[in-house]
Amino acid sequence: MPTPSIIAIDGPAASGKSTLGRRLADALGYLFFDTGVMYRAVTWGALQRSIQIDDEVAVTALAENAQIDVRPPSKNDGRACDVLLDGVDITWETRRPEVDANVSPVSVYAGVRRALTAQQRRIGLRGRVVMVGRDIGTVVLPEADLKIYLDASAEERARRRYTEIIGRGGSADYEKILAGVRDRDRIDSGRLVAPLRPAEDAVILNSDKLDADEVFARVEALCRK
Ligand code: C5P
Repeated sequence: MPTPSIIAIDGPAASGKSTLGRRLADALGYLFFDTGVMYRAVTWGALQRSIQIDDEVAVTALAENAQIDVRPPSKNDGRACDVLLDGVDITWETRRPEVDANVSPVSVYAGVRRALTAQQRRIGLRGRVVMVGRDIGTVVLPEADLKIYLDASAEERARRRYTEIIGRGGSADYEKILAGVRDRDRIDSGRLVAPLRPAEDAVILNSDKLDADEVFARVEALCRK
């Protein structure tokens, strides 16, 4: 089998999708595209412009009209990519706790999803891409050649997020992180449009007992099969 050209990686928050996706894209010389940053960019834009998150019409208009650019990293400060909203670099703003807390409600809106999915699909169909998200294998690129669904327990994902923040010198509360992870799981899995779930033809990997190297080795083997 030739190396898959379109690779979809889905899974819940903090399951290691981005780490895996970036590494895989590097190994194959493919574009890495993390679709979560687009939902984060819309969320940050709404917070910045004092648009109420529960104002579906206004948030949708923002998603339809805002210029979101995701580009290779221009700085060596730990970023995976540059995220620009209407030309302004908002890469680190998209990682703020208030974005974490509001991004899942924003991503429930059908109009927001329609606007962002169209852009993601256009990029994905060019091929030689590893695209990461919640609905890539089911909705954005159902024709993907390889679909991975990367799962892990909420406790393990919260523990990893906690360790990551502490490792960067920040302060964190494990119980709060766990509550946030569970909240996002509930909203992402329960929404009517493009809920988080594995595609029927996805390979499901649970990373509770696997480290990043082991996950990568398994997926790389699937690509080379
Ligand atoms: O992957 P990340 O945690 O950055 O995604 C942030 C949020 O964006 C998710 O919790 C989810 O609500 C939303 N999302 C989505 N569909 C995608 C990617 C992200 O709904 N394809």
